[in-house]
Amino acid sequence: MISFGHDEIVKYPFLAEAGQYLKDQGFTLEQFATDPDLQIIVDRAYERIESASQGNIYNYKVDDSSNKDSSLPLEVFSFLIAIILLKLAGMNTLVSRFSLAEARRAERFLEKDLVGKSNKTNEEFATKIFLDLFSIKIKKNGDYFTIPIADYLKHAVHFHELEWKLINRHVENGMVFLTPHESVRLTRKQLGNYIGTRIRSAQTPESFQVFEEKVAKLVKMGKKLTVTTTISTEFPPCIKRAIEVLNNGENLSHSGRFMLGTFLLGRGQTIEQIAPLFKNAPDYKERTTLYQLKQLSGETGSNTKYACPSCDKIKSNDLCFAIPECDNIINPMQFGKKRL
Ligand code: SF4
Repeated sequence: MISFGHDEIVKYPFLAEAGQYLKDQGFTLEQFATDPDLQIIVDRAYERIESASQGNIYNYKVDDSSNKDSSLPLEVFSFLIAIILLKLAGMNTLVSRFSLAEARRAERFLEKDLVGKSNKTNEEFATKIFLDLFSIKIKKNGDYFTIPIADYLKHAVHFHELEWKLINRHVENGMVFLTPHESVRLTRKQLGNYIGTRIRSAQTPESFQVFEEKVAKLVKMGKKLTVTTTISTEFPPCIKRAIEVLNNGENLSHSGRFMLGTFLLGRGQTIEQIAPLFKNAPDYKERTTLYQLKQLSGETGSNTKYACPSCDKIKSNDLCFAIPECDNIINPMQFGKKRL
């Protein structure tokens, strides 16, 4: 396991073992529930979850050295208490959103640390995170980082944009060249999964009265965000799968969202009927979703109504889960319709 100091734990609090860390710092959970001076940490923990639930990244300037001594309890403990509140609330959709927001927050630090302009130790630490968490051996090469092709392919499979295709990358001697930003972006999904897995596998702690009001609010918040959509048997498997991904609070790629939106619009559903489907997505923002659906429907933008992509295109994006009933159709819109 990675060993870390003050700076690292503020940037990457998910590396700490919550219960053990509190103990090592001389605190018990009961103190957070009873000591009025520690209430600010519980409040901050709640805000951290609330901000993640709205698709925002919790913002804190770690580099503010004047605040260094006091930053440790507030910033690290607020993360750890947030985990306690999430465990007590038991809302899966909140855990997914929180994990993604914390992964995106950590990305900023990882990228800065990888560049390591002023601090070689930071660079080494970031490199070690890649190795220990994602089993990627990342090496510096001028202004770039290189990773073995096999590692690249394993992680790039989650991206469908052309720039991530191996053919469009600079490759030398079996190594793929990436900018610091791309190196970090490549692992966002895994980092989010890592944080989510740690939260889900943590033991649910004893509850205290002072937590209960916040936990009740979180349950309410989680329920509002959770939408279970009934999947029509008339939908093709690619569409059913995309809806399942969203129902599970997992991330659906950009091309997956495009496919789903255009298919449902093509089947005559309205934007108001489709938009709630996306509510479970970890990065859901109502305004963005409505904006994108309006663009697809031709209501705004170029006034062009976008068509559902072809099966070939969907296959090339790894979103096809063909079954015999697909029977050589060339577009999901044809699924279930009588063929001539
Ligand atoms: S063959 Fe077409 S309709 Fe069937 S799952 Fe694949 S993309 Fe969807």
